[in-house]
Amino acid sequence: MIYADNAATTKMSELAINTMVKVINETFGNPSSLYTIGQRAKEVLEKAREDVAQVIGANPREIIFTSGGSEADNQAIITAANIGKKKGKKHIISTAFEHHAVLHTLAKLEKEGFEITLLDVHENGIVTVEDVKNALREDTALVTIMYANNEIGTIQPISEIGKLCHEKGVLFHTDAVQAVGHIPVNVIDDNVDMLSASSHKFHGPKGVGFLYVKKGIPISNLIEGGAQERGKRAGTENVPGIAAMAAALKEAVSKLDETSASVKARRNRLIEGLKQIPHSAINGDEENRLPSNVNFCFEGIEGESLLLLLDDKGISASSGSACTSGSLDPSHVLLAIGRVHDVAHGSLRLSLGEDITDEQVDELIKSVKEVVEYLRSFSPIWRDLVAGKKEFIL
Ligand SMILES: *Cc1c(COP(=O)(O)O)cnc(C)c1O
Repeated sequence: MIYADNAATTKMSELAINTMVKVINETFGNPSSLYTIGQRAKEVLEKAREDVAQVIGANPREIIFTSGGSEADNQAIITAANIGKKKGKKHIISTAFEHHAVLHTLAKLEKEGFEITLLDVHENGIVTVEDVKNALREDTALVTIMYANNEIGTIQPISEIGKLCHEKGVLFHTDAVQAVGHIPVNVIDDNVDMLSASSHKFHGPKGVGFLYVKKGIPISNLIEGGAQERGKRAGTENVPGIAAMAAALKEAVSKLDETSASVKARRNRLIEGLKQIPHSAINGDEENRLPSNVNFCFEGIEGESLLLLLDDKGISASSGSACTSGSLDPSHVLLAIGRVHDVAHGSLRLSLGEDITDEQVDELIKSVKEVVEYLRSFSPIWRDLVAGKKEFIL
């Protein structure tokens, strides 16, 4: 069994599981209750807030706990939209390859009269500061650009884009769900006003995440009710989940240098191996990508069939984001970097865990080679390509 879909979700670390169980058993009180048992839960909650804040260079008061990355993205964008609306600014800049939590929130705002500019992404999977500069307008309320892409792993020039936004007085949000816990992230160095993260992408539990909002920015609520999270996110806090998330995050960053170097070496080994498959190509910049991410297109095959056959061999992989699998449309990310439909259909994402070994990488290479050859052996598209009736693109 090789689990190579860590961009979709990760296995909880032992520390995160133990922390969660301990809090469930020992600190079950409601953090809003005034008696001792409640206040103990409150202490656990606030300690988690300090830990999370420290990891990203924020103040604990700038952290709002949410149900995950999607909620954090929604809240950040709605917050900026409401601030913009008051000033008559109804233009938002983002990219064509954001997560759907961002894209669908923007689509909703578009229906409400906002103008949305989705920047094209270059072939290497990166958006440049110049792209953002050219799109900025007097009425731009927000720039929201993901830190690292969830499908192709490419890392964006967040700090430079943030600097530009600050010079122009425009709010800057980044969906850092794939970055936090995997590469160094610091809200000050990165010049961000708002940042989203999700626990289950860094070996914490599912259904919990956080939003960083820089001090002084008036936050809009998505959920009304009690005064939890300083009145900005109602509902009794998921104390066990939040404590486990903080434990997982601290653990991940404490060994970041070590793990990212070793994962990167395995990633490169995997890339070299997959390159040997004829008529294949890596998606996104080969170097400037998450240490764990490998994404390839293989001409003449269907990514979905590739996945099912790899699953038969005990390998869990993805053809794109989990949210789009099951639909026949090719990945919006691959289309955004300019892959044509036929090629985008034959995609494979392998996102490695920190504990991946060279032997497992070699097994991945061998299995992918076998399955690609097998699928091509009865693919009508491949037959046409080989017969010269169609031209190879890759
Ligand atoms: C997973 C993911 C999300 C959504 O996070 P959830 O906690 O699952 O809601 C948002 N953005 C990116 C880039 C992601 O990878």
